[in-house]
Amino acid sequence: MKWVLRIISSLVILVIIGAGIVLIPAHIQIRGVTPALPSEEELLALTKPSNALSGPTKLSYILTSSQPLARGQISHISILVEWENGRRFLIDAGMSRQEAENFAALLKKMDPSAGQATVRGTISELLGPDTKYVAGVGFTHLHIDHTQGIKSFCDARGPGALLLQTESQRKLQNFNTTEGAEIVFGSCLTRTAFSSGDNESLYKSPQFPGIAALALGGHTPGSTLWAVALGDKVFLFSGDITNDKASLNQDTPKSAIYSYLLVPENTNRTSELRKWLHTLDQNDRFSVIVSHDLASTQLYLSAFVNDANFSKK
Ligand SMILES: [Zn+2]
Repeated sequence: MKWVLRIISSLVILVIIGAGIVLIPAHIQIRGVTPALPSEEELLALTKPSNALSGPTKLSYILTSSQPLARGQISHISILVEWENGRRFLIDAGMSRQEAENFAALLKKMDPSAGQATVRGTISELLGPDTKYVAGVGFTHLHIDHTQGIKSFCDARGPGALLLQTESQRKLQNFNTTEGAEIVFGSCLTRTAFSSGDNESLYKSPQFPGIAALALGGHTPGSTLWAVALGDKVFLFSGDITNDKASLNQDTPKSAIYSYLLVPENTNRTSELRKWLHTLDQNDRFSVIVSHDLASTQLYLSAFVNDANFSKK
């Protein structure tokens, strides 16, 4: 029997070494992404675009799929920003119908209490004729559930939309963002110059006045906050720094298994970001929107309504 135990313990050691080879570099990498956070004043300056173009006039959410879990529903939401001149910007792209089913099946394996997924459609199906007016796309991060739908978007739209990314999102990948990065970099989106000024951390583009991106780190090396001014308020799209708004309000971390083994996170940084975002959310001029939390998103935004007559306007 001794030899059986020896084989089992050797296998366990091999698995631990293998996991370490993958996980340790990812943990070191994400601990290196801690850029400075902007002040409230810097964020509020977005409400006054400096060039002649005015800021966004409409913000809405697009629910691509959802699945009930014991701890609450997980929703896959994209955000559409619109300007008066018809220009549109999309934040996150959801998944194809098949990938949404696969993602739901994977969650069900990890959490047997997970229910049946409701797949509403791809981002291009839900945008309908408006798809071709999307002039730019940004991602809160490059995990597959936020990026894979860009394939159907490109099939429907063709080339011409710009890809806006922080330097961290463009350059830094780990083992669970490489697939999403390949999809995005191989897509119809055109990479464009997008920069933060000398003394600030917000990335801005003259083509899209009133919006900015901020490298966050914490969840993935390329995790990005999208700040969008609407009237005199700034909406902050925080991606998956938390999976629901309650975790942000109550300062609840994700499980250790998730943050150390499944998705290598910088838990010091996610803790700092939860507090920073919660403080901003307490201020009437800001609202934080969490990617996977439909109920909380509905408190602030209305659902996008596909306007079949848009192209005739
Ligand atoms: Zn996600």
